[in-house]
Amino acid sequence: MPEPTTAAVGLLFPREDKYATAEQAVLRQLRSGRLSDTNRGPAIRALEEAFADLTDTDFALAFNSGTSALHAALHATGAHPEAGIAVSPMTWISAITATLHAGSFPVFCDLEPDGVNLDPTALAAVASSCSAAVVTHAWGIPARMDALAQTAEPLALIEDASHAHGAVYRGLPVGSLGAAGCFSLQDAKSVSGGEGGILTTSNRGVYERALVLGHHPHRLQNELTLPDLLPLAQTGAAYKFRMPVLSAVIAREHLRTLPERARTAGANLAVLTDTLADHKAPIAVLHLSEGSRCGWYGTPLTITEPVRDPDTLHAAAIAAGIPLRPLYDDWVCSPLFQQPGLLQRVWPHVRLTPYTPPDPDALPNYYRARHQTLVIKVPTVAAADYMHAVGQALVEVLVRHLNP
Ligand SMILES: *Cc1c(COP(=O)(O)O)cnc(C)c1O
Repeated sequence: MPEPTTAAVGLLFPREDKYATAEQAVLRQLRSGRLSDTNRGPAIRALEEAFADLTDTDFALAFNSGTSALHAALHATGAHPEAGIAVSPMTWISAITATLHAGSFPVFCDLEPDGVNLDPTALAAVASSCSAAVVTHAWGIPARMDALAQTAEPLALIEDASHAHGAVYRGLPVGSLGAAGCFSLQDAKSVSGGEGGILTTSNRGVYERALVLGHHPHRLQNELTLPDLLPLAQTGAAYKFRMPVLSAVIAREHLRTLPERARTAGANLAVLTDTLADHKAPIAVLHLSEGSRCGWYGTPLTITEPVRDPDTLHAAAIAAGIPLRPLYDDWVCSPLFQQPGLLQRVWPHVRLTPYTPPDPDALPNYYRARHQTLVIKVPTVAAADYMHAVGQALVEVLVRHLNP
């Protein structure tokens, strides 16, 4: 690998004024004096319809967070204490604890040998003791939903698409590929309402059961049709999972610009990968299958030579101004999941489950991915020069780290 010629200095992440297009709509909503909808008011409806369009599904349901959408999806697909729910360790903590919120428990599954998503073979090995799987499309890379569905039959697959708004797997939008799709609309995500969540599904039963968990009786009385749910129309389960109206307004406007932002991010990533290729850097971008498109919460880069010390490499890259997202903490080894007493203190139903703490040695691909992956934040405004400079800085950092 030749030494880069230009030292990258003063890398400043390009600013995107992401909420500018929402200002007028927010003002209009404020002036209407209506910031809470107990029913399916116009702002909530507009956002739900836009997400059903994006994902090509029959129903989209707004929540106050991605976490509550996951809880509702797991409840709606039949989570219970006797069976576990398969999860990837490479995800945000609440995609794991949602299994506990929904009255079940997590079963950690390994990743693909060459990727960041759940491995179909590993999922098949635990399928008989699980009722469902949460499939995170990690760092925007669509998981192999067809292979997962085949090996995991008859598990319900819940997609966590919080990193993958607008992503497509083999011609089909993420959010339409399992029993339900869940999206976070938290501030850092590619479509944001400040906070918020969306559940998508084409299954009427899943939709209505998700509605019952955390939406207002006004809405339940309007929409429930299934005979076994009608007795719940008066009360629901009364978790408060509704989305604030202002979040819906903001997210609706932010969603409008998603296609343009995704195109721009794609062009920026191409500049980076060209720069890395010019320097023959030992870095690979994950391969997307035919007809697939990634999301843009972060882009995982695989270092193809052994990394000595990932923490040092990460710190050096940050110090050089490379815009990295930190990998998530290693939840597998956290006290919460290693000490059943702690889990039971927070979720007493765990006493009734066959939960056992995860064995890190059973997750070699996950630990390899943690060791060899950098997740880079790609700007969604035009930034060719910046991406070129980031590529050069990354090459310099790698040269120093791999050849001390
Ligand atoms: C952000 C995120 C969540 C949680 O969403 P909130 O809206 O913060 O509750 C769940 N899963 C993944 C993969 C996320 O990135």
